[in-house]
Amino acid sequence: MFAGLALPKSRGRVRLRNAEPLAVPRIEAHMLSHPDDVKTAIACVDLCRALGNTRAFAPLVTCESMPGDLDATGMERFVRDSAVTYWHQTCSAKMGRDTMSVVDSKLKVYGVDGLRIADGSVMPRITTGNTMAPCVIIGEKAARAMRDQHGI
Ligand SMILES: Cc1cc2nc3c(=O)[nH]c(=O)nc-3n(C[C@H](O)[C@H](O)[C@H](O)COP(=O)(O)OP(=O)(O)OC[C@H]3O[C@@H](n4cnc5c(N)ncnc54)[C@H](O)[C@@H]3O)c2cc1C
Repeated sequence: MFAGLALPKSRGRVRLRNAEPLAVPRIEAHMLSHPDDVKTAIACVDLCRALGNTRAFAPLVTCESMPGDLDATGMERFVRDSAVTYWHQTCSAKMGRDTMSVVDSKLKVYGVDGLRIADGSVMPRITTGNTMAPCVIIGEKAARAMRDQHGI
């Protein structure tokens, strides 16, 4: 069983490393930095354990290999040590109108002429499910916006 947080509250950030335009950016994922995410992750594991240990699952399960019956500290340590990414990194150049927004509703970058962004970075909030299909739609919307602007 693979417990996962679809809507984490923790926020990472992407920062410039220096003034070199080709320098790789500094990426700070900050996974499980919001206390609610730790609580939710533990609740997910508890749910998986409860389900996995039911009689209904018995024909499919030999034994629970981990995490087992841990105390609160042990369970938090297990969650932190075993957490991996879903590879759904998004929202680093969000669409919106506040000071942290990077693109407008036509995907145009504020303050830069002739530049649009069309990828998962423009999502203001991550989607509740997988991210590939929403990225395809963002691309379709970008194509439509450019066709409309240039009358193509
Ligand atoms: C291992 C893995 C498994 C995943 N599994 C799933 C899944 O099962 N279902 C799902 O829905 N989502 C899945 N995802 C997430 C999904 O693939 C991504 O959210 C989605 O592809 C992001 O789309 P994007 O357009 O934002 O970025 P990308 O798909 O990363 O596209 C960016 C593109 O820009 C190109 N590029 C980068 N730099 C330059 C440059 N300087 N010049 C020109 N081109 C450049 C790259 O080559 C790449 O083609 C998975 C991701 C990973 C990594």
